Amino acid sequence: MSNPGDTCHPATSVGFVGLGNMGRPMAERLLRCGWNITVYNRTPAKTASLAEAGAQVARTLAELRECDIVITMVGTDDDLRAVTLGTGGLLDGANTDFLLVDCSTVSAEVTDEVAAAARACGGDLLAAPVAGGPSVIPEGRLAIVCSGAPEAFDHAKPALNTLAHKVIYAGSGAISRQVKILHNLIAAVLVHVIAEVSVLGESIGVDRGDLLEFVSAGAVGSPFVAYKAELMKSLEFTADFTAALMLKDVTLGHDLAEMSGVDIPIVEHTREAIAELVAAGLGESDIARLIEFLADRNGVALTRRP
Ligand code: NAP
Repeated sequence: MSNPGDTCHPATSVGFVGLGNMGRPMAERLLRCGWNITVYNRTPAKTASLAEAGAQVARTLAELRECDIVITMVGTDDDLRAVTLGTGGLLDGANTDFLLVDCSTVSAEVTDEVAAAARACGGDLLAAPVAGGPSVIPEGRLAIVCSGAPEAFDHAKPALNTLAHKVIYAGSGAISRQVKILHNLIAAVLVHVIAEVSVLGESIGVDRGDLLEFVSAGAVGSPFVAYKAELMKSLEFTADFTAALMLKDVTLGHDLAEMSGVDIPIVEHTREAIAELVAAGLGESDIARLIEFLADRNGVALTRRP
């Protein structure tokens, strides 16, 4: 499948920071679609496959300041601070008038902090968190929600169109962060309820594979549900999206609810379950692993299915 972003846009130079589960396929897609791309990763070994494919590799963040736009895809608020505001960071030095486009799932607070620093350096920040996992990136099938100055959005849009089949402009400031966090609250609860109901099904003699296939193909089916269902069926919990990252997101959602005084009991229940999974040392597994956790707790045996 292709989208309008498959067209080459080689004119703009793009820096890319963070070649993790998401960042590596995103950078690969940009490169394959003809962008002039320079990559940086804290652990340099992860740049090797991109270098082989033709990307330029920066040894320091400072080298990316020559690019028109720099996309960051790191884990948490503190990680974004480290690569932008930290010593030797993107905004720590001269030539900082580039557009920073952050695709990580982080808070509105750090967004405001980094945006102010970027503007003080002559540049700007577009907050551009994404929905969709590593598997949809090669075909440019992410969804991206953006906020910041309209000019920043216009400047970054062609590169974002290469990565996403839907790019939404939600307004100024950090509003896109809230949209992304709300999205992940829905995703977390969905995985939790599928795990819970699958354990119930197993306990009453329903074949877990049949149930999960039916759910994936039925009214609530989606690529996300189908992917998590596959993990729950096979009990092989690859960590494309770790429970630790999801705990970060539901905690950001918890903070939003506290701030606004709105009760979100369903999300809170899911947050507690994910927190227990992480506390049990399973934070590097996919949250689909909740199924094993809930089965153990209920004394239900799960059979491994091919
Ligand atoms: P990941 O696999 O853990 O990758 C994180 C990347 O950030 C790595 O390249 C890491 O470098 C780099 N990094 C972290 N801290 C850093 C620091 N202090 N300084 C420099 N580099 C640092 O995470 P991911 O799954 O790609 O997720 C990235 C972001 O996207 C997260 O905010 C996540 O919530 C969000 N997200 C993830 C998914 C998904 O399905 N995975 C989907 C949508 C959104 P090293 O290689 O050196 O560790």
